[in-house]
Amino acid sequence: MPILRQISQLGQPVLRQTAGEVRDVSDPAIQALIDDMIETCREADGVGIAAPQVYQPLRLFIVASRPNPRYPGAPGMEPLAMINPVILSASEEKEKDWEGCLSIPGIRGLVPRHTSLTVSFTNREGEAEQRTFSGFVARIIQHEHDHIDGSVFLDRAEPRDLITEREYQRILRASHMP
Ligand code: ZN
Repeated sequence: MPILRQISQLGQPVLRQTAGEVRDVSDPAIQALIDDMIETCREADGVGIAAPQVYQPLRLFIVASRPNPRYPGAPGMEPLAMINPVILSASEEKEKDWEGCLSIPGIRGLVPRHTSLTVSFTNREGEAEQRTFSGFVARIIQHEHDHIDGSVFLDRAEPRDLITEREYQRILRASHMP
């Protein structure tokens, strides 16, 4: 049974360090970590979570886009574990959109991100994969990849593009008005 892990909060050093490679994907501790991260992300209404957010300084994150109260417009997908990911290429085009972070509750920001990118990674079965992603999922991957390099979305947003969660929810409700 997966267990919910405690989510590290901004200010804790684990969020600011460069994470190390996962050496053995088949290690039961890594497999349990993946299961726990998927459950922790789902329970917290996240669309992704990186290992440093559960106090593990490892190059591993989960991408799990689905519509939820924090991201009503998110596309649905099966949770995907990306281990030792490398961004091989990214579109020149960037787009600003709203992001939040389970480690930075109460704040939202407009963050410029590449609209598509190609990533190589190891999946949880230990197989090498290379895939191209676009739109919101590409945004999640860039957000989570920042976490394993010790960055957070605040580092990439203009200070004036930061707002409170309450104001964000107000904008969201207004945009859903007919
Ligand atoms: Zn985050």
